[in-house]
Amino acid sequence: MEWDELKAGILAAGSARITGLPADDYLAVSTAGPGAGGEGSVFFSVAGRRVRIPVEEEGTLVLEHRGSGIAVLCIGRECIEGILEPVALHCPRQAYITVSAGCIYHCRYCRVPALGGKRKSVAEIREMVGRVRDRIDAISITSGVAYDPKEEEKYVISVIRALAPFSVPIGVSIYPVFGTPDRLRAEGAAEVKFNVEAATDRIFRTMCPGLDRREILRILARSVEVFGKNRVYSNVIIGLGETDAEMEDCIGELAGMGVIPVLRPLNPAGELAGWARPSAERLLRLFRIHERILREKGLDPCSAVTMCSACTGCDMVPGRDA
Ligand code: SF4
Repeated sequence: MEWDELKAGILAAGSARITGLPADDYLAVSTAGPGAGGEGSVFFSVAGRRVRIPVEEEGTLVLEHRGSGIAVLCIGRECIEGILEPVALHCPRQAYITVSAGCIYHCRYCRVPALGGKRKSVAEIREMVGRVRDRIDAISITSGVAYDPKEEEKYVISVIRALAPFSVPIGVSIYPVFGTPDRLRAEGAAEVKFNVEAATDRIFRTMCPGLDRREILRILARSVEVFGKNRVYSNVIIGLGETDAEMEDCIGELAGMGVIPVLRPLNPAGELAGWARPSAERLLRLFRIHERILREKGLDPCSAVTMCSACTGCDMVPGRDA
């Protein structure tokens, strides 16, 4: 089985049960992203290609840890040997910090609001990054919206200022408002990821009441002017009811603006807990479309130095997972 088929199969399966030796040293627990609030995840990697696998007692796959990070993952009849990568903060080689682990909005697919987490202090964040400074190439910042988006941005900027002395690239993914890209760039952010989340405006309206997808698109267009090529990203969830044609249009619209879409398979959570994960076949189909459009537009997610396209754990990434 080729790597892209294997990764699509793992992402579609959603989780694994760990057997063999304890793998606690390789376990990451998240307060944001697809693994928020879960039992934890491991990062399984084969020849430099990586997939994040949530760990669950009831996991559909079996991952056997043989010791010192050597592991064998079986999917169907296929078993493949790889390594469990050590995690810095949230993922390998990055300090990926969730500043405010709660949110005033209620996007239906997201379980962050229900977790009701608190906002980390600037000193706490500086201390967290300091603990892993020898193990990171980048810092990535994300945040829910604790009070309002403008206030959140201001707070995140105070965090960026405090982290500048670590002298690694900083990526930022927050809910943006008018002027956010310019202000983040002025503070030295290297990359931004502002998520349109759904493939169409119609689906977005039903998923994220009170938020404005068209405004996010306008801000993404400005972000490309400010940050340049291959430095602006946007998550789009696969599996919110969109068709392949709608997803293709969305990828085309984003890439046409110079934005690299990050196609994220739905992790059924929040109000969508009963929904199905997208199938491996669909993930592969959309991966081919994604690859083709990025190639046509001259965009390359392999250039990413921060956040999800640098990590590649949760998504099929053109150029990395081919
Ligand atoms: S791809 Fe993004 S959300 Fe997934 S583990 Fe990596 S950094 Fe976290």
